[in-house]
Amino acid sequence: MTVARKQSKCPYCFETIAEEATRCKHCHADLSKKKKKLFANLNNFRIGFLSGILFTLIIWALFYFWLSGAG
Ligand SMILES: [Zn+2]
Repeated sequence: MTVARKQSKCPYCFETIAEEATRCKHCHADLSKKKKKLFANLNNFRIGFLSGILFTLIIWALFYFWLSGAG
């Protein structure tokens, strides 16, 4: 039994294409933009989330050192 490649449908011509395809082999539509945008949004979200945590940690560290230094 062979393991079939993951497949999806081209949103333009509805032919079956490989899921990782960046260009439809049937109608040659560019399928990379949608994925890139999704990943960019995901990266922006992740970067914002991480910098938020980092900022909070730095504030807490400063606050802690300020308290221990003053106390
Ligand atoms: Zn297509």
